[in-house]
Amino acid sequence: MAEDSYDLIIAGGGPAGLSAGIYAKRAALNTVLIEKSVVGGQVAITKGVENYPGFIEIEGFDLCNKFLEHAKSYDLEIVNKKIEAIEPDIEHHRVRLADGTLLKANAVIIATGGTARKLEVEGEEENFGKGVSYCATCDGFFFRGKTVAVVGGGDTALEDALYLAKITSKVYLIHRRDEFRGSRILQQRVFADPNIEIIFDTVVRSIDSDDDGVKGLSLENVKKGKLSALEVEGVFIFVGFSPNNGLVPAGIKKNRTGYVITDEKCETAIPGIFAIGDIRQKYANQIVLAAADGCTAALAAAHYVETRT
Ligand code: NAP
Repeated sequence: MAEDSYDLIIAGGGPAGLSAGIYAKRAALNTVLIEKSVVGGQVAITKGVENYPGFIEIEGFDLCNKFLEHAKSYDLEIVNKKIEAIEPDIEHHRVRLADGTLLKANAVIIATGGTARKLEVEGEEENFGKGVSYCATCDGFFFRGKTVAVVGGGDTALEDALYLAKITSKVYLIHRRDEFRGSRILQQRVFADPNIEIIFDTVVRSIDSDDDGVKGLSLENVKKGKLSALEVEGVFIFVGFSPNNGLVPAGIKKNRTGYVITDEKCETAIPGIFAIGDIRQKYANQIVLAAADGCTAALAAAHYVETRT
């Protein structure tokens, strides 16, 4: 670490955190961004991005590199370490690293993102990006005119099955019970869509593939114990998404699904602590929105720091 006291510490190096870093440096804040693994977050492992303005199509990894390059052009200090805890205080907030280092900052931006829950079945991990997807808006386009399966029974599964039904030739919607958890209005639309075939009381036992990617699913009807095979070229898994909120200090409000509640400046219930990107409760989780959050929080943090120094 260059120092032990900063104007601003950013926790997390996805698009939200990097965007915050760019705006913070432009606002002349003494800033460090701390990332425990790969800079870029979920986008770094996303195949093709086709909805980030300015890029008709770009690999997620390449887009992350552009964010990183941009942040580095402002000499943003980026440190590859694990944060153990964020400890709010009146004078300064403290950020404790796993190696024992203790840092102080006037403002902290939490940009730790979220993680799509996995089915944890055979064939899932190795076919990620080769037919297995956790994002219909990102990957649906690659399955135009093809047959796909959607797994899950919550709002995300229903909403994304409806979205996929418009661009694919057929959607099998596979749910482990005989009743959806998702909202009634979405259920009505799903039941009415001729392109969606619902398979209730069924779980995926394995995702089957060849060298070109996903070829089908092995299914089990949990009521009858009957096994079957289903031919599909893609499987979209929506069995829940968890915000990575382990570092969010007590006293910061979260909604019932664990997303951090902020005001329009992305500031949490604790002054000087901001939450941005996929960890923040908002209408949609998209790269462009994460980047926008980064801008908002960094500008607000600059104002906050100015009023304290
Ligand atoms: P969710 O509501 O937690 O639903 C997850 C679904 O996956 C459930 O149907 C669950 O089945 C199923 N599931 C979980 N683990 C499974 C497994 N191992 N195998 C098979 N199925 C499994 O998650 P979500 O749909 O992502 O929604 C998350 C939150 O965001 C919810 O509060 C939702 O209302 C909200 N959301 C809202 C909107 C909207 O309002 N437009 C859109 C998207 C999300 P069971 O039902 O049997 O438990």
